Amino acid sequence: MIIKDLFSNLAILISLLFLYSQITTDNPLNRQSSMIRKIRIGIIGGILGNILMQYSIHIEDAIIDLRHIPITLLAFYGGSLPALISMILIIIGRLYIGMNLSSIFSVILIFSSTIGAIFFVSSTLSTKNKIILTLAWNNLIFTLFAIHLIDEINILLVLIPAYWTISYLGGFTAFYVIRYLRSIQVLFEKYRNESTTDGLTGLNNYRNFDNIFNALIKQVDAKEEKLSLLYIDIDFFKKINDRYGHIKGDEILKQLGEVLKNCTKSYDVVSRNGGEEFTVLLLDCPLEKAKEMAENIRKTVESYPFYAFGENIHLTISIGIACYNETTSKAIDIIDDADRALYYAKNSGRNKVCIANSYPEK
Ligand code: GH3
Ligand code: MG
Ligand code: MG
Repeated sequence: MIIKDLFSNLAILISLLFLYSQITTDNPLNRQSSMIRKIRIGIIGGILGNILMQYSIHIEDAIIDLRHIPITLLAFYGGSLPALISMILIIIGRLYIGMNLSSIFSVILIFSSTIGAIFFVSSTLSTKNKIILTLAWNNLIFTLFAIHLIDEINILLVLIPAYWTISYLGGFTAFYVIRYLRSIQVLFEKYRNESTTDGLTGLNNYRNFDNIFNALIKQVDAKEEKLSLLYIDIDFFKKINDRYGHIKGDEILKQLGEVLKNCTKSYDVVSRNGGEEFTVLLLDCPLEKAKEMAENIRKTVESYPFYAFGENIHLTISIGIACYNETTSKAIDIIDDADRALYYAKNSGRNKVCIANSYPEK
């Protein structure tokens, strides 16, 4: 029976911690969290403690549970405020169940346990020792109360070891689960970023450009908005690599990414589409404005003091522009049209801006 109750307590604890980690994925509780966040999560901890109280484990006439675990977790991750809030809610919940001698002891136990958790967490001990001592402190107070309240030695001989075991098992399980879920969240976030971001420049990678582009062309079709695309390629970058080396070449690509970011608005979509090719998607932007921006980017790059590991490097770029619905009648065609305009810019001298479908076809 004890094992069955313990199992359901642990299952509840784990599933509620999982739920909690899902709703706080973007912003897990920590010492720097805002006061309002700490209060909110303190309330969630209080609710969890109260739920765990409903699933108490019966040993002879005594009942024990894992209500102190949420408080311990909150003290660890959020400090005293959320721990105290959840403690208050757990005390209210306990007194609501019934007011008698045992509930008074229960209140004293949860209060001392919370103060102990806050005290040990603020110590300079290792995390593992902090957890061991916080739980030991809670268990010790429980043991003292049990000895005071229960006269039968046979009950105490079962109850006390059971409580220590359950408390440690629940405590370590909870910490393990929270840490595991958090590490998965961090990894997930990292991989999600890496799958959309170019590692060198921090700009959108080709895959993300493609996703955004596909979403945008649907949007411009529906709203009949304009959409401009700048297709950018560094002039003679092969020579720069040959002269200065690949590592310095990479550094230049990084700096060019920053220049493009600085020359555009935060809502423009700047991407590294591969190698030394970049694009800027300009939403709701007519051709005239796109031309102005492209010229500004070209001139800025031409005079920009690129610098890589002790070397000043001069650089120019060529840009092809296409604009739906000015140079191009189908939004989906602006990539090909801008690419062709870029090709024309390259073939007609480089370091220039060319507009799609405005040059004589060969
Ligand atoms: P142009 O565009 O003016 O015709 O001449 P280019 O020499 O720049 O020719 P192209 O655009 O075809 O050259 C691409 C070169 O860019 C080849 C390669 O040396 C270099 N490159 C591509 N990707 C990277 C990269 O990730 N890092 C570095 N350092 N160089 C790269
Ligand atoms: Mg190229
Ligand atoms: Mg090039």
